[in-house]
Amino acid sequence: MVIFKKSADLHQYISSRRIKTTEIGFVPTMGALHEGHLSLIRKSKLQQALTVTSIFVNPTQFNDPKDFEKYPVTLDADIYKLLQAGTDVLYLPFVKEIYPEGPRLNQKYELGYLENILEGKYRPGHFQGVCTVVHRLLNMVAPGQLFLGQKDYQQCLVLKSLINQLSLPVNIHISPTLREPDGLAMSSRNLRLSAFARKKASALYQSFRFIEKNFKQTSPDVLCLQATGLLIKAGFEKVDYIEICDADTLLTAHSINPSKKYIALIAAFIDGVRLIDNVILPAD
Ligand code: AMP
Repeated sequence: MVIFKKSADLHQYISSRRIKTTEIGFVPTMGALHEGHLSLIRKSKLQQALTVTSIFVNPTQFNDPKDFEKYPVTLDADIYKLLQAGTDVLYLPFVKEIYPEGPRLNQKYELGYLENILEGKYRPGHFQGVCTVVHRLLNMVAPGQLFLGQKDYQQCLVLKSLINQLSLPVNIHISPTLREPDGLAMSSRNLRLSAFARKKASALYQSFRFIEKNFKQTSPDVLCLQATGLLIKAGFEKVDYIEICDADTLLTAHSINPSKKYIALIAAFIDGVRLIDNVILPAD
């Protein structure tokens, strides 16, 4: 594995390998790596001649500065995991490499309603920050294949829209969410949970199981209210949203059309840590 901190060096290395763009796989991350991240790298490694992973905690996508400051950094452990997963290149830029003019949003991406619903509603500006960093990283790495996790489902739709808008020759591959044995989605943020809160956090997954079980016979609005009650009872202090949405558009579903695909999405706080997760609901 080769590590680069400067985009010029990264660019020179990739060019010198004379690999077709379509054979470059890219896995952008913010570090504090876990098996979920590594599953994306392994998927890329199966198909690509060259897999590039980036670790960059992007300041412009945090609407809450405290959340940015508290983001876990575990670089030594990350490098060890990346070596084991077999990534070819780790790109580890300083903020100045990505934002030579300072960490600001200078370009506005046209994301329509997608940036104002769900995560966008509770984290204003978040998706503009995500688009800014991913656009810059895509220019630097120039991959043909981009590997993302379903865990950040709305982000996947936003990045599909970005790639369409920019007419970039990039295929998006979306991998399933990897979970802990009790169902909690693996997340860098889980590191911030106390042992007590970590135990209670599995209620998030149990809420999804409740929704899956009752989704055919109870209306989406009632079901989301009941699931909110379950989370509060289990010790979550605040629920930003629980919604059942059309999986293609992410528009809220108030009734179910059997010919469509639906997804349940949750964002909720436990122990001051905001967790997000989603599951695709079974068609029949
Ligand atoms: P992050 O470091 O949180 O920005 O995540 C980097 C990538 O890993 C994103 O595409 C995430 O959707 C993906 N990811 C995060 N958690 C998981 C998980 N539990 N399973 C699979 N992919 C994940």
